[in-house]
Amino acid sequence: MPMTIKEFVAKRKQELSQEVAALDKKPTLLIIQANDNPASDAYIRGKIKDASEIGANAILRKFPIDITEEDLINEIEKANNDPEIDGIIVQLPLGKHIKEANIKIAVSPKKDVDGFHPLTKFDPCTPKGIIDYLTEEGFAFEGKNAVVLGRSEIVGKPMAKLLLKKNCNVTMLHSKTTLEDKRFYIAHADLIVVAIGRLGYLNEEFEYKKDCVIVDVGINRGEDGKLHGDATPDLPVKIQTPVPGGVGLLTRLALICNLLETTK
Ligand code: NAP
Repeated sequence: MPMTIKEFVAKRKQELSQEVAALDKKPTLLIIQANDNPASDAYIRGKIKDASEIGANAILRKFPIDITEEDLINEIEKANNDPEIDGIIVQLPLGKHIKEANIKIAVSPKKDVDGFHPLTKFDPCTPKGIIDYLTEEGFAFEGKNAVVLGRSEIVGKPMAKLLLKKNCNVTMLHSKTTLEDKRFYIAHADLIVVAIGRLGYLNEEFEYKKDCVIVDVGINRGEDGKLHGDATPDLPVKIQTPVPGGVGLLTRLALICNLLETTK
C-alpha cells in the first residue's frame, strides 16, 4: 500500500521540525499580501500553520490592493535587506496595475523560496513537491515517458524541466495539441502531470498504462461547491493523487523545505 500524501507530508514535517530545532536561528518567512482575495487568505493561513508546525516564524504584511508597484517593490527591498527575514513570498494575485514579472525579480534570489526569480537556486514549489513525493514513492524516473499537460510558467514548464533533469522522456501537451495526439501520448505515459484547470478533463475516455502514475495539480470549483481535480477520480492506473489532499499539500511542504534550506 503506497503512503498517502497526508502521511508523507506529516512524516516530512516531523523531520523538518527536528532540523529546525537543531538550528541556531528560527527560520522566518515573510508573506507579503496585496489583495483581498478569500482564496489567498486561505492559502496564507495554511502557510502560517505549516511554518508554525515545524517551529518556524511566519510574518504576514498586508497592503491594500491599490498599493503602487513602486511602493510594493520598496517593501520587498526592505525585506531583502532585513537579516531577520530568511524567505519572502509575494502572494498572488496582485492588482492589475502591477506587473507580476517586476515583482518576481524584485525578491532577492537568495530569499526567493517560491522559486520564481530567474536566478533563484530554489525549484518552484509545486513541481518540487511533486518530485519529492514521487521520489519517496520510489518512482524510477530514468527513461520513463512523462507527459505534462499544461505549460504555465509556475507549473507546466518548471515541471517538465525537473522531469528532464531526472532523465525522463518528457512530452508537453497544451491547448493546441490535437485530441488524437493527446490520446497517443497519454496512452504511452508512465507518468502524467495534469495542470490545466479543467475539471475532470482526464477521464475514462483516454487509455492509460495500468502502471501509470497520475499527478493531479488542478483545482476546480465544481457545481457542487466542492474542489475537484483535472482528472476524474479512480482512473484505472497504479497511483492517482487526490484533490483535495494532494498536490496542494505537496506544494506547501516544498515551501517550508525551501525556507529551511535558505535559513541554513
Ligand atoms: P494556467 O496558467 O491556468 O494555464 C493552463 C495551461 O493549461 C495552459 O498552458 C493551457 O494551454 C493548458 N490547457 C488549457 N486547456 C487545455 C486542454 N484542454 N488541453 C491541454 N492543455 C490545456 O495554469 P496553472 O496556473 O498551471 O494552473 C493549472 C491548474 O492547476 C489550475 O486548476 C490551478 O488552480 C492549479 N494549481 C494548483 C496548484 C496546487 O498547489 N495544487 C498550484 C498551481 C496551480 P495554452 O498554453 O495553450 O493556453
